[in-house]
Amino acid sequence: PIHETVDVNQILIDTVALFESEAYFREIQFKKDYDPLLPRISTDPTQLQQVFLNIIDNALDAVGNSGTIGVKTRKNPDISHEIVIEISDTGPGIPQSVLRHIFEPFFTTKKGGEAKGLGLSVSYSIIERLGGHIRVASEEGSGTTFTITLPLT
Ligand code: ADP
Ligand code: MG
Repeated sequence: PIHETVDVNQILIDTVALFESEAYFREIQFKKDYDPLLPRISTDPTQLQQVFLNIIDNALDAVGNSGTIGVKTRKNPDISHEIVIEISDTGPGIPQSVLRHIFEPFFTTKKGGEAKGLGLSVSYSIIERLGGHIRVASEEGSGTTFTITLPLT
């Protein structure tokens, strides 16, 4: 990966912008909470944007029509050399039986053309390669949150 000094807030702003008109049309709100003091990190911006695209794309699928997608950044107060990115949605959540498979390649619960079941497995590999971690918390009926941590360098 090509490492540059990257403003993760700006990548998220740019990525969310790609979904704004679709979200507006479907009455989905983006709730943005970007840490203004978020330190820049050394990472691959193109790969990182791919991960955000995949996760926000899934969030839009999950909320359907009307709902909220939260996008949040913060410096980890406990681990000072890493930042945290949270992408949450008010969708139906993921049952335990599905949750354990979502990072597997070609795993999908969606039918039809575009769903290939690769978004999250690719995202997982990218974040690992960038030295970070990705995890998911989901509760049926209330929604899903993906949390990504990335090292500063
Ligand atoms: P695809 O979107 O092509 O199905 P992904 O790898 O992106 O493949 O996601 C795998 C599966 O994980 C989805 O089919 C869906 O069942 C589940 N999933 C991912 N994100 C969410 C979410 N935000 N809410 C509910 N289910 C999700
Ligand atoms: Mg997907």
